[in-house]
Amino acid sequence: MSIQHTEKPACAAVIGGGPAGLMAAEALVAGGIRVDVYERMPSVGRKFLMAGKGGLNLTHSEESGLFLSRYGARGERIQPMLEAFGAGALREWATGLGVETFVGSSGRIFPAEMKAAPLLRAWLHRLREAGVQFHVRHRWLGWTESGGLRFDTPHGVKTHRADAVVLALGGGSWPSLGTDAGWVSVLEQRGVRVAPLRPANCGFDIGWSEHFRNKFAGQPLKSVVASFTDASGTRLRQQGECIVTDAGIEGGLAYALSAPLRDAIDANGSALLHLDLLPDRELSRIEQDIAHPRGSRSLSSHLQSRLGLRGVKAGLLREVVRGRDFESPTLLAGAIKDLPLRLVAARPIDEAISTAGGVAFDDLDDRLMLRALPGVFCAGEMLDWEAPTGGYLLTACFATGRAAGSGAASWLDSAN
Ligand SMILES: Cc1cc2nc3c(=O)[nH]c(=O)nc-3n(C[C@H](O)[C@H](O)[C@H](O)COP(=O)(O)OP(=O)(O)OC[C@H]3O[C@@H](n4cnc5c(N)ncnc54)[C@H](O)[C@@H]3O)c2cc1C
Repeated sequence: MSIQHTEKPACAAVIGGGPAGLMAAEALVAGGIRVDVYERMPSVGRKFLMAGKGGLNLTHSEESGLFLSRYGARGERIQPMLEAFGAGALREWATGLGVETFVGSSGRIFPAEMKAAPLLRAWLHRLREAGVQFHVRHRWLGWTESGGLRFDTPHGVKTHRADAVVLALGGGSWPSLGTDAGWVSVLEQRGVRVAPLRPANCGFDIGWSEHFRNKFAGQPLKSVVASFTDASGTRLRQQGECIVTDAGIEGGLAYALSAPLRDAIDANGSALLHLDLLPDRELSRIEQDIAHPRGSRSLSSHLQSRLGLRGVKAGLLREVVRGRDFESPTLLAGAIKDLPLRLVAARPIDEAISTAGGVAFDDLDDRLMLRALPGVFCAGEMLDWEAPTGGYLLTACFATGRAAGSGAASWLDSAN
């Protein structure tokens, strides 16, 4: 595209009004740039508000090395941005907006009120006061021949010009909140490499029997330990809970292991997840309890009274374990401690919490400017990284938004 350099103040377009785009707008306006934010939905920050519904997990308090490891292979690229604006800076920033945060028992950090709305309200107020202009119901379509930005608006297709552009268009999950990933083909046509978008922090299909589904869908399995051996032979273990769905499982435990599980399904057609249904009891003790004489009691009430195995956990055992294995205390105890669940598909990206894949980091410079399109920067979930839930998603969106906004401001400064 051709970027037109005008006399100061330079103007920048931020396209996408999620946390990454708003943070880019804040960094640009702080750099003395005139900023227009374009958003296709009738209001900005819809996914951010949705994230606040179950308690807005803004970031995490763990030490920086562990924090960085959450981004896997992309940690190296994200590190400088987190060093510039990581968990500590984010908390201070929230405090600056009048929103205090606290560290929960798991180390996760939340706003005191748990919600996103007060933070977003205060932030938008501050951005407007600083001069940021918002244009909602503006769906970006791409560029005109002469480098103008084309938008579909309620008044037809409009063209706007900007000296620099920050794209913060999000991933492909929850398209009802605005993120339909329409940008993928627009950028690919301009020679930008985009790793295929895939579900991250997602549920999985198992294919329950009708009986099990009808009886237990919607019920939480807690507290269990899930383990999975990945392609490199590493055994991954995670304690927590997940929810039985119509199709299989979802929830925190499934999300935590979702990246390696998804990759294994892609490679092999299925993945074997093992659940320890009674993580606080030793295998030998469970076996003894099962073998204990039960008199006239049924095996179900025996398992319930000796081991506390009831409801969905007992139902899951019946669903997975062959009938004759129930007759052997050794086999049954083994199944309780290491119950195999074959996952056959990741749930569709529409339902996922977040997205893996996106704009390749190799196509971006250190300021997050596209090498193929000087003056065009990218930020947030549309970049090719992924992370588990725990506040790591928002932290990287804020950090990359900040980096892209400051990068665009300094690029404009040096270009003028
Ligand atoms: C249910 C749920 C709960 C979550 N909870 C948490 C949590 O507690 N902690 C956490 O860290 N993360 C959480 N996340 C993830 C987090 O919300 C996202 O990672 C984050 O919002 C991504 O920020 P972003 O700015 O990159 O993109 P988004 O927030 O997706 O914003 C992108 C914006 O771009 C707009 N847009 C897209 N295409 C166009 C176009 N063509 N023209 C104009 N505008 C366009 C969209 O409408 C959208 O407003 C949650 C996600 C979900 C779905």
